[in-house]
Amino acid sequence: MQSRWFTLFVILAAAFGWVLGNWFTDIEALAGVLGFLKTTFLSALKMVIAPLIFFSLISGIFNLKESGRVGRLGAVTLTWYLSTTAIAIAIGLGVVLFVHPWSAMPPLSDLPSTSGVTLIDTQSGSVSGILRSLAESMLVNPFTALADLNILGIVTNALAIGLAGLLILPRESAIPGVVHEITRITYKLASWAVLMIPLGVIGIVYEMTSSMSLDLLEQLLTFAAVVFGATLLHGVVVLPLLGGLVIRCAPWDLLRRLTQPMMVAFTTSSSAATLPVSMACAERELGVGPSVRSFVLPLGATINMDGTALFEGMAAVFLAYLFGIELGAVGTVTVFLLAMLASVGAPGIPSGSLAGMQMVLLAVGIPLEAIAILLLIERPLDTFRTAVNVEGDLIGSAVIEHIAGRGSGGDATPSELHSPDKTQ
Ligand code: ASP
Repeated sequence: MQSRWFTLFVILAAAFGWVLGNWFTDIEALAGVLGFLKTTFLSALKMVIAPLIFFSLISGIFNLKESGRVGRLGAVTLTWYLSTTAIAIAIGLGVVLFVHPWSAMPPLSDLPSTSGVTLIDTQSGSVSGILRSLAESMLVNPFTALADLNILGIVTNALAIGLAGLLILPRESAIPGVVHEITRITYKLASWAVLMIPLGVIGIVYEMTSSMSLDLLEQLLTFAAVVFGATLLHGVVVLPLLGGLVIRCAPWDLLRRLTQPMMVAFTTSSSAATLPVSMACAERELGVGPSVRSFVLPLGATINMDGTALFEGMAAVFLAYLFGIELGAVGTVTVFLLAMLASVGAPGIPSGSLAGMQMVLLAVGIPLEAIAILLLIERPLDTFRTAVNVEGDLIGSAVIEHIAGRGSGGDATPSELHSPDKTQ
């Protein structure tokens, strides 16, 4: 389904749920049906989330094997990508720490329960208490973690299994292929659950109507504005400045060269769909050699999503406030790490970050209902963050060409930034 239509359906569903919740609450049969819709949707999400996270993380680690094969180029690429992603989340979390206009209004009053999900204790006071709480959640056997929807346990197991596989599996092993196929199956399952969103949203909004006040709308809009500002800060100031410093080029000139793919990313909300345009731009505008661009850009479209990471970190803090959850130091660190991981695992498609978002939310005790609230503003924000995701990949390709490219088949120099079609 066209994502624009889908967004419209979700908004209409929310409006419909709101009308029903305001004027038709005394019809018992209606309440029963809407309660059923809500439970079915949330259960479907819970059904797919554990295998989705588990297999997509292992699959992502197996993908990294490719970067190991290209030695220095892989190491430099990973280091740059992970560093800029960490900076993006730090900016997002730093901004929400100081700018949170929504906290002038009260959190939601009727809090849904978080039952059925194993949480870390975000309120452990002492350092040893924090570490004990983390260790207890992380170090469990994979079956228990999957069955309890213990997100930290699932993530730890997936990382450990993926890493072990990376170390011992021979090059010709069939296992990575099987894991990739299972991951695709879990994506398909998730896409079915996503189709149920409009129905689920009617039920959720109906039940939340008491809190779906104008206050909540205002809170959502201010949150969207703050995310927009932080994304702009990262995309217009930080990334071009960092890239410009390394490749010795004026930041605004660098940004100007990326306009076309960023526009395509903005309109498609998909890093993957923008890849061909990014490839052409890296070649023509940035003078990135074929060996670097054919490795760095596809990898970037898969694992490097600065805009997504920034959004996920900020959204978790915002929703924690709305649902009255104190994140504390452990919660904030958990959000930081999981937002990083979630952005690495998110597919480069419209709203591709939503599955990872659930992982971040569940781990700190924010109920899945929060996703429904986020959906109302998710699509417009996806346009900007995808543009920044693609910008990050392209600046990364220029930086990596500069640092490692010439030794691995690339054939451009920083001064050749001004020489389109140099690599041909
Ligand atoms: N739409 C984003 C991308 O393709 C992923 C996301 O943040 O949902 O890069």
